[in-house]
Amino acid sequence: MTGPPLVFEARALDLSRLPRIDSHLHTSWTDGKATVAETYQRAVELGLEVILYSEHSRKTSTDWFSRFAEEVRSLPAAPCRAYVGTEVKIESLDGEIDTIPAISDLCDFIMASVHRFPDGRGGAIPFGEVNPDEAVDREFALSWAALENPKIDILGHMFGMSYRRYKVTPPDEKIRALIARAAEYGVAVEVNSHYHPNPFQYIEWCREYDARITFGSNAHSLEKIGEIMRQLGAERAR
Ligand SMILES: [Zn+2]
Ligand SMILES: [Zn+2]
Repeated sequence: MTGPPLVFEARALDLSRLPRIDSHLHTSWTDGKATVAETYQRAVELGLEVILYSEHSRKTSTDWFSRFAEEVRSLPAAPCRAYVGTEVKIESLDGEIDTIPAISDLCDFIMASVHRFPDGRGGAIPFGEVNPDEAVDREFALSWAALENPKIDILGHMFGMSYRRYKVTPPDEKIRALIARAAEYGVAVEVNSHYHPNPFQYIEWCREYDARITFGSNAHSLEKIGEIMRQLGAERAR
């Protein structure tokens, strides 16, 4: 991958001049509303300099993923650089992720996220059968395991299920432990405007542990593109 950076050493960031990026965008190739082109146009209007199309995919997405990747690659390199990515789920407590080289090889960045709790038999535990404390523990264990997987560039929305689905704030020690481990393995922590109630705290912890960091919105519509920059006060409209 060549081009302007999408992930940063948190300690090297100038907090008064954050990079104008969005590393978490979905489009109409999956469950987003806007097309790749509409998303790009909006990113340019917002003055974003680097974006990652972190499209959802699975091992079985081979029938369309290469067309998506080609479409992103055909976008202009300036004024906004667009990277090809995918957000995949963490599949097991071994840290396996739901992708195969036919897909991951087409990507500049692989983002792995906890989207469900595997039951160890290829299925998922129904969300209602997991209480909030257990959810935190399960999300922690899956993330912990995945951080060791060398295929992963970015850990997407750390503890996102605990915050959003189970309405619980994980203990600071658990967040810190994951950030420390992400730093150890060189995986970037995504600070996400949709999932993280206090993105500034995540930035501080990433600096404390010398972790890599990136910023995303989990945008599924034009209105949400760049949301993380607005939250952090780093927007600058053209
Ligand atoms: Zn996600
Ligand atoms: Zn997402």
